[in-house]
Amino acid sequence: MRHGTVSGRGRSARFAVWCAAVLALAAGRSAAQDAEQAPWYAPWRAIAVRTPEDAERAWAMVREFFGNMRQGHAHEVWETDRERMPPARPLEECLAALAADGRDWPRADRACRMSAQVRIAGPVEGVAFQSSRRSEAIEVGCELAIRLPELARLLRESGVARVRVGPPARFSLKSYHRFGLALDVYALTLDDGTELVVEDDYELQGDRETCAGAEPDGERARVLREVACRLFEAHVLSTVITPNYNAGHRNHFHWDVRPGDERFYLR
Ligand SMILES: [Zn+2]
Repeated sequence: MRHGTVSGRGRSARFAVWCAAVLALAAGRSAAQDAEQAPWYAPWRAIAVRTPEDAERAWAMVREFFGNMRQGHAHEVWETDRERMPPARPLEECLAALAADGRDWPRADRACRMSAQVRIAGPVEGVAFQSSRRSEAIEVGCELAIRLPELARLLRESGVARVRVGPPARFSLKSYHRFGLALDVYALTLDDGTELVVEDDYELQGDRETCAGAEPDGERARVLREVACRLFEAHVLSTVITPNYNAGHRNHFHWDVRPGDERFYLR
């Protein structure tokens, strides 16, 4: 109960500290902006995406801004597949394609101009995508939403009935999470109720050869790896990252979709 009683004085002191922190941040921000392109500057925001050409230009900017930062890990796999490339197109076109597929998922208001969010109400092809925080529906950007049915069908092939999606582990500005086009997956539940927890059940491969490496020992680890490899091989996602990637991903899979990018990544 003591936590509930904050004195007025404590509150104003805290407010002063908060103000100072904001001012310090603002000062750092303008200094860095002067120096060079600041990391939070999103150049594509200058483009009003109305035509397919606008969309291509904007996503090309995102691609360039994000760079090829993943390059350089041992045994990472890059594949190029122009046909499976998620399209860079205006939102309206994506939303129309979603509607034409019979997915009447409601728009969620926290829309980013580049990637409208939709709320995934109810199971998709027999798979429930739930937010770990409140066991509620998740909200994703349109180009990820449109791939969810195929993603779900592939998950069903491994007997997955439920996907636990957590908040992004480390929100980075150079992350497709900012567009709602990435999922951090912490656990998968199978038809028989078995919960495969990435942190506990994924077996790190010493050589980091996720799909080409040695078969995991445990059955749970085997299924987790099978899911990752199935998704990568189908090129349904642009990025499939397992705990093999780095320590920051020890407890989850990172899956994302990158419009206008023909590269597919696995580690
Ligand atoms: Zn992530």
